[in-house]
Amino acid sequence: MSEYKLGFIGAGSMAEALISGLIDSGKASSKQIIASDITEERRELIEMEYGIKTISDNQEVVAKSDYVILAVKPQVIGGVLEELNGSFTKDQKVFSIAAGVSTAKIEEIIGVNISVVRIMPNTPALVKEGAIAYSLGSYASQELGEEVEELLNPIGTVVQVKEKLMDVVTGLSGSGPAYVLLVLEALVAGGIKMGLSQKKAKDLAIQTLIGTAKLAAESDQHLAALKDQVTSPAGTTAEGLYKLEEAGLRAGLMEAVIAATERSKEL
Ligand code: NAD
Repeated sequence: MSEYKLGFIGAGSMAEALISGLIDSGKASSKQIIASDITEERRELIEMEYGIKTISDNQEVVAKSDYVILAVKPQVIGGVLEELNGSFTKDQKVFSIAAGVSTAKIEEIIGVNISVVRIMPNTPALVKEGAIAYSLGSYASQELGEEVEELLNPIGTVVQVKEKLMDVVTGLSGSGPAYVLLVLEALVAGGIKMGLSQKKAKDLAIQTLIGTAKLAAESDQHLAALKDQVTSPAGTTAEGLYKLEEAGLRAGLMEAVIAATERSKEL
C-alpha cells in the first residue's frame, strides 16, 4: 500500500472530472488522491476545490501512488513517460486517458511488465454523464477492468472494448458530442425560423434530446420501434422524417462516425 491510492499526472479538465466523480461518489477520499501539474494555477485550483494534495513533481506522484492516471495531452505523454523512466514498479497499475496512445506504446516506454488500462472518456463526463470505453493492455487482468468500471461508473456509462475498436469509440462517443450539438443547433434554428424565441427553442430542443435519450435508455424496445410510436400515418412526424431521409441525415451521421474513425486511425 502506497501513501496515496490514486495519483494523477496532469490535473486538467478531464482529470478534474474524474477527481470530482471519485470524491462525490465516495470511491476515493480526497486524502487518497494526489495530482501533479506543471501549471501552478491548476494545482492551486484543484487543491482548493477538492482538498487533494497537488505537487509539481510527476516522479513523486508515481512513487507515492498505487494507481497512476496519465491525464496529460497525447502530444506530451511520450516525454512525460520518458521523464518517469525507472520510476514505476510492476505492482503499480497505470490508467491512461490520452486519446490515440496505445497500451503497447505505454508498456514499451515504461519498460516493466506493468498493468496498463487505456480509457477513452468524452466531454459529458465533466457533468457525470460520460460515455466511457476502456481496453486492457497485455498485462492487465479482467479483475482490473472490473475495478476500472467500479471507479468510473459515477461519471458515466462504462464499456470494455478490444483495443483495436478504440478508433471507433473515438469516432462515435469521443466526437459524438459535437454531432449531437450540431443536431441541437439545427433544431433550435428550425424552431426560431418558425417563430419560437431563441430561449424557448433551445430549452425545448435540449429537453427533447435529454428526454428521448432517457426514454431509449430505459426501454427494452428497438430504437426504430420507439420512433414508430411517435409517427402516425400521414402525420406531422412522418412528414418531418421524410424530409430528414431525403436530406440524408441517417447516412450523413453514419459517414461522420466512419470518417472520424478513419481519421483517428491516421493520427
Ligand atoms: P487539459 O489541457 O485540460 O489537461 C492537461 C493538463 O496537463 C494541463 O493542466 C497541463 O497543465 C498539464 N500538463 C501538461 N504537461 C504536463 C507535464 N509535463 N506534467 C504534468 N502536467 C502537465 O486536457 P484534458 O482535456 O484534460 O485532456 C487530458 C487527456 O484526456 C488528453 O490526453 C486527452 O486526449 C484525454 N481526453 C480528453 C477528453 C476531453 O473531452 N477533454 C476526452 C477523451 C480523452
